[in-house]
Amino acid sequence: MAIAQQILFLITLAVAGYFIGKRVKRLRANIQLGKPFSPMGEPAARLRNVLLVAFGQQKMFKRFLPAFFHLLIYVGFLIINVEVLEFIIDGLAGTHRIFAPFLGSFYTVLMNVFEFLAVAVLVACVVFLLRRNVAHLPRFWSAEMTRWPRLDANLILGIEIVLMLAILTMNAADQLLQGQHPHYPATGKLFFSSMAKPLFDGLSVSALVALERGAWWFHIVGILGFSVYVTYSKHLHIFMAFPNTYFAKLEAKGHINNMPVVTREVKSMLGLETAASPAAEPGRFGAKDIHDLSWNQLMAAYTCTECGRCTSECPANLTGKKLSPRKIMMDVRDRMEDVGASLEKGGPGLNDGKTLLGDYITKEEINACTSCNACVEACPVLINPLEIILELRRYQAMEESSSPAQWNAMFQNVETNFAPWKFSASDRFNWAKEIK
Ligand code: SF4
Ligand code: SF4
Repeated sequence: MAIAQQILFLITLAVAGYFIGKRVKRLRANIQLGKPFSPMGEPAARLRNVLLVAFGQQKMFKRFLPAFFHLLIYVGFLIINVEVLEFIIDGLAGTHRIFAPFLGSFYTVLMNVFEFLAVAVLVACVVFLLRRNVAHLPRFWSAEMTRWPRLDANLILGIEIVLMLAILTMNAADQLLQGQHPHYPATGKLFFSSMAKPLFDGLSVSALVALERGAWWFHIVGILGFSVYVTYSKHLHIFMAFPNTYFAKLEAKGHINNMPVVTREVKSMLGLETAASPAAEPGRFGAKDIHDLSWNQLMAAYTCTECGRCTSECPANLTGKKLSPRKIMMDVRDRMEDVGASLEKGGPGLNDGKTLLGDYITKEEINACTSCNACVEACPVLINPLEIILELRRYQAMEESSSPAQWNAMFQNVETNFAPWKFSASDRFNWAKEIK
């Protein structure tokens, strides 16, 4: 029986490993559809961002209560998964609680910490479910939060609740079996699961073993299934937040990336610089599709938690415009997924007749952006939706010349009058002549 369980466990592990590996390969290929991007040095500042923002959740604490509950889930997720190591060794070796005899009373402390975290995660998940589905927090119900994103969030919270219940059930049955069955070593008193012991008190040893084994398998298969599911879900941010914060922009928020070719051209026109070498072919101005964005911008789309903090601070969205920075990130991710799926099936990929600008994101959306950076400031994982919006607008203005008429008039004025107004530079101070 033990051998059969070991073989079954090995197969389960291999199947989960296969699907996770396959999906990671796809995510990597999708991100590599983007243009090259070289991190611009300053590794110390980047590591600081990782430690403070991704690991320390610094930006979450702008809103204390959700940050507190999120922290419980995050710490619980990180620490309880240490227990998964024991599950895996036990599953492969056919042992049970292999660390217990080695760690002695420290094992009891450790298990009680895990149980405390399991209860904390459970409570936090219930609070988040109520907040989403009963309190109807507006940012979780805005237009882009269609059926799937809402279901995704609820599924994850539901899965975490049943996984935590499985741990507590397993520990309760385990404690009843200790002293009755040779396979179950003493763990010492486990506080929270002890409270559930009366529920199973009258059960026979074989029924308790079935309950304990059932909960053990449910938990480990649930964790492995969860690991596969996460790669398809917005919850990928639990991994992607780390590289994303490392590669996040370090310049001041108002900084807009110049196009070196254009800068050189303008300087040369103004006589400020003579081109030492012929200007390089600029390629496409701005971005029309995902391959015009850099890979770190694409990676950011997989990092988005769909929390909507950006949209809830966006002045365009708040005044009823169609723009939602969260939707921009979701659309970039959806486009990557569509192109990646098409390429995997040997389809046309990027040449499927669709583009990010037009088929996923409309001009009405990008033109509503005030470039205020509120979304960038609000994002808890240092995503910069504005950069993508500006790239799309750059394409619209420079490649299609299809910006709104008022903007084109302003561009013309800048070009001819060096100012956004229609007066030439020589006339600009006429008003001052009337001042005595
Ligand atoms: S930069 Fe644009 S998208 Fe971001 S908050 Fe401001 S208006 Fe909204
Ligand atoms: S871009 Fe940032 S703030 Fe906006 S939904 Fe995604 S994670 Fe949240």
